[in-house]
Formats: sequence, structure tokens, C-alpha cells
Amino acid sequence: MNKLSLPGVVWLASDIHLGPQTPATQHAFHAFLDKACAQADALILCGDIFDAWVGDDVALTAPDQWLDDSLKKFKQVAAAIPLWLGRGNRDFLIGRQLVDYLGASLLPETVCLHTDYGDVLLSHGDEYCTADPGYQRFRRIVRNPWIQRAFLSLSINRRRQIAAWARSRSMAANRQKETRIMDVAPGAVEQAFTASGIKTMVHGHTHRPAVHQTQINGQACTRIVLPDWDFDHDDAARGGWLSIDADGLNLHPMTIAE
Ligand code: MN
Repeated sequence: MNKLSLPGVVWLASDIHLGPQTPATQHAFHAFLDKACAQADALILCGDIFDAWVGDDVALTAPDQWLDDSLKKFKQVAAAIPLWLGRGNRDFLIGRQLVDYLGASLLPETVCLHTDYGDVLLSHGDEYCTADPGYQRFRRIVRNPWIQRAFLSLSINRRRQIAAWARSRSMAANRQKETRIMDVAPGAVEQAFTASGIKTMVHGHTHRPAVHQTQINGQACTRIVLPDWDFDHDDAARGGWLSIDADGLNLHPMTIAE
């Protein structure tokens, strides 16, 4: 398993879904990034940072204004503290070109964080949604390096068309699915705890922030789900992050844009 040693205060966030349609979320998130620079020793963004990502070359050659603003912000953060970017199911095409450009690092898909509190198993979380075989099939296909290379060889416009088409299909399919199917499968979580021997797990993806305490093989285990971010719909303003230090893990929900 990939390991990452992170002493001091570590902050984690995920599922910000940055895009052109969510300026208030972007504003709140940028304020959070300023705070992270001042208060954290390292920042990990573990997936679905962007609502869509069709290739690093878009960011490097022709970023829209909103994206350019966020890239500048990420550069500032990476100049101040170590910044790790992980891929989610929306932005799985984030690559080395982007992180090199930002001065950040690419987070492995599953990683054991050695923190001052102890070991933490971290991933985006979609791999635990095994009750949804249609999604897992899609995941295997889009994570295939050959398919990714073929996709990235298309023009940016063509890639955007395909991504929009795939997104509309996935939204239509998700409307038919029970909420249980869209959440992590207990068996997949149990297997990850058992296989890793780690007693603390952190992931995002499900947009169901919570701290779950469970017993696995007689051991007390904790699973923390990171909050998603949305400040563009008044009835549902939300976001937040997790901090880890020697004293433990703490979820910090945000309900209003600060
Ligand atoms: Mn996700």
C-alpha cells in the first residue's frame, strides 16, 4: 500500500465539485484555502475537486476564467504548504501535468497516512460502492490507461461533448437507483479495514458526512465521511473539512460562506 508521512496538522477536504456554475462554492472554498495555509501543515484534496475534468491540457492552455482563478489559488497554497490532489470519479483524469504545474503532488488512489494520531486509510470512496455494478463497470473502463490515452488524444471540444453525454447518462441512471446502492457497501468497507489492518478510514464521494463507529473482528474502527460543498443553492449551503493532529480527527462543517 502507498504510504504518506504527514506530521503536524493535516487538513482534508473533498467533493467541492468546482465548475463554472458554482461561483459561491468556489468563493467559500477559496476562503477555506486561505485558512488552510494559515493553520494547517499540509492539505489533501481527495477527489471530485472539479465537477468535470477532461484533461490537464485544458487547464494549461485555455482555462476559463473560473478555472484560472482556482489554479492561481492552488498555486498559492502549494507555495505555502504541501498540497496533495487526489482523483475522484468526476476528475479521474487529473494527471501529473496539472500537479507539476501547480507545484502540488498527486495523491495515490488508496493511501495509508502516517499522522501524529496514527494510521489513516484514505481514498475517494467510490471503490466501496460495490452494490452498484453498473458504476463499478464504468469505473474499470474509464480507469483503463489505454482508454484514457485514446480519450485524451481527441480534441478538447470532442472530449467535452463525450463527458457531457456520459454525465447525462449517469444522472439518468442514478435517478433509478435506491439510496442504499449509491452508498458504500458494508462488506467492502469491512474488507478494506481487515486487509489494511488500519482502524481509521476517511473517504468522501457519498456526500453523506458522518463519523461511523463500528466493530470489525472485535476491533473498534472509525469511518469518517467528508462533506461535499455547495454554497450555490440557498436551502442547502454546506461544506467543511477534516483536521487530523495528535489529539485526533475532527470534522469542521461549514454552513454559511465565511
Ligand atoms: Mn465522487
